[in-house]
Amino acid sequence: MWQISKDFDFCYGHRIHSQNLEKSLSCGAEPKCLRLHGHNGTIKVTLEGYKLDKRGFVLDFVELNWFKKFVDDYLDHRFIIDKNDPMISYILTNNIGSHIHDGNIIWIDHPEKFTTYSVKEGVNLGTINQLVESFVIVDFVPTSENFSKWLYNIVDNKMKQFEIKTSSVQFFETPKSNSLYRE
Ligand code: ZN
Repeated sequence: MWQISKDFDFCYGHRIHSQNLEKSLSCGAEPKCLRLHGHNGTIKVTLEGYKLDKRGFVLDFVELNWFKKFVDDYLDHRFIIDKNDPMISYILTNNIGSHIHDGNIIWIDHPEKFTTYSVKEGVNLGTINQLVESFVIVDFVPTSENFSKWLYNIVDNKMKQFEIKTSSVQFFETPKSNSLYRE
């Protein structure tokens, strides 16, 4: 059996609004993940196969370009926020909602589903666009555990169309802290 892996790097911001540390384990550390902050993350995608294709591959690494494009287009240099984060009403809805025609903000519960929005006349379009487009709104608390499962499903949904098994997705929040999801 073969396993192949490829790493994808990107920069992102997030916060863990659910952070609540167990004192006896954390030695009195501050719950810093409540603050807005950023990381240089790495996603390690691992695929597996019991046989190779005619070309001699489980999958040509180049054929993961679609995933690189997804990471670059939708995640890189953005702030990933839970739709249930109480802070969202301060940083997005209150400030931006009144500047957008339908009051909607961009929403992503699946990578191909960015909703479009338009900005009212007279509003500084460039600045509002930069603000709105800074955010990826997801329906989970953006912990590395939730990221790895979310990304696994994205990879698995695509790869199974080509009868390729996704072994795992590992999400490195930092070089020393990561989570791995597999089914
Ligand atoms: Zn963090």
